[in-house]
Amino acid sequence: MTPETAERLAVGPDTRPDEVVGAVRAWVGEHVPEAWRQAAERGGAAAIRQVRSRSEYEAWYPMFGRSGLVVPTWPVEYGGLDVAPATARLIDAELRPFNLGRLNPLGLNLAAPALFAHGTDTQRRRFLPPIVRNEEVWCQLFSEPGAGSDLASLATRAERDGDEWVVTGQKVWTTWAHLSDWAVLLARTDPDVPKRRGITYFLVDLHQPGVEVRPLRHIGGEVDFNEVFLDGARVPDAQRVGDIGDGWRVANATLSGERQMVSGSGSGGVDRIGGSGVRHLLELAGGRTGDALVRHQLMTVYSEERIREWTNQRVRATLKAGRAPGPESSIGKVHQGGLNQRIQLLATDLLGLAGQAWETAAPDYAGSLPFEVRGMLRSRANTIEGGTTEVNKNILGERVLGLPREPDPWQDAAWRDVPRS
Ligand SMILES: Cc1cc2nc3c(=O)[nH]c(=O)nc-3n(C[C@H](O)[C@H](O)[C@H](O)COP(=O)(O)OP(=O)(O)OC[C@H]3O[C@@H](n4cnc5c(N)ncnc54)[C@H](O)[C@@H]3O)c2cc1C
Repeated sequence: MTPETAERLAVGPDTRPDEVVGAVRAWVGEHVPEAWRQAAERGGAAAIRQVRSRSEYEAWYPMFGRSGLVVPTWPVEYGGLDVAPATARLIDAELRPFNLGRLNPLGLNLAAPALFAHGTDTQRRRFLPPIVRNEEVWCQLFSEPGAGSDLASLATRAERDGDEWVVTGQKVWTTWAHLSDWAVLLARTDPDVPKRRGITYFLVDLHQPGVEVRPLRHIGGEVDFNEVFLDGARVPDAQRVGDIGDGWRVANATLSGERQMVSGSGSGGVDRIGGSGVRHLLELAGGRTGDALVRHQLMTVYSEERIREWTNQRVRATLKAGRAPGPESSIGKVHQGGLNQRIQLLATDLLGLAGQAWETAAPDYAGSLPFEVRGMLRSRANTIEGGTTEVNKNILGERVLGLPREPDPWQDAAWRDVPRS
């Protein structure tokens, strides 16, 4: 038995539900530090945050990864426990009080779906376990200055050189590239065919010559995303996912995973990006729930939040039934983007003057923003990241309402002949 298998929870597809619950409780008792457990009992997630720093959590996390509990439904050889979705729900319910958020969400939600759908077994065994343990952090090199919504027009080139590819181009908006080890990359391998047919999907080691990451500061004052310049970066052909020229199809597994993550319907533990939920609004409203206007605003977002949860349940049920989610993930994405912005604006309104003026501990502008203001500013990106609301509405118009497709006069033209800005 290797040290790794020794640390994995001894449950599998045939373990009885009560045994699973018992095994998880025993694991929590043995491995979740006592201070975190006591805080969970005392005051839930907020109390845990007070006794557990981000760096402590990151240092502890690989053990969580080795237990298989991070991704219980995944096969054992890829870092999971190979249990059924119903068992995974029991596990989730046992772990929820301890607020064990999943790290490496772009690895789990963006890289992994592409590897599962189109990778080789060798690639999955090499890359999935370190993703689960957060030992290799991932980001997504898709968008470019001239290719965002129209991603398929991307211009970064990959040229074959023996067993390797040489990559040159510029990416932008790359979330967490400055903290990442690896990236999923889309690059053009054939400029002489229509845009969607000449793209290939690669896995790129960011710690190599020819990769330069330049951080960008966003409206909230923090660095979350970056420009990434690729200048002769080398990628072994063994790190190509799917066939040459078939990268658009592979990318769709990543993009669907991203829409589910951003809409909160994914399994990566991301509920919302920016701020917190309706329960926090109730705390902020305090005694003002007797005010008819405040009550009306709270009830509106509360009802919409429930509808969002039900839509997300539909997406999860589709996934669990082994089908790819259809337009539901675009519905969830459009709804969640606007809804979270309304929730965070209401939170800032409820702060009153404190939402408009505060002491700035210069030079730490980002650190001095009230939590609600920071959430409100971050939520502005919710209708852009992971595909804009307008573009997702196009998808819904065409695929749900059956409206005519947007005309594209260059549809069959070779990529190199299409005019670009
Ligand atoms: C916070 C954040 C994080 C991000 N992280 C990443 C990341 O990690 N990796 C990555 O690759 N990308 C990332 N992105 C990029 C994101 O995917 C793009 O910003 C998005 O796809 C939009 O592209 P664009 O910014 O080029 O806007 P454009 O495509 O130039 O769009 C500009 C405007 O035109 C509208 N528009 C464009 N085309 C149409 C159309 N056909 N019909 C109607 N309206 C249209 C858009 O809705 C938008 O309002 C991130 C973005 C943000 C904001």
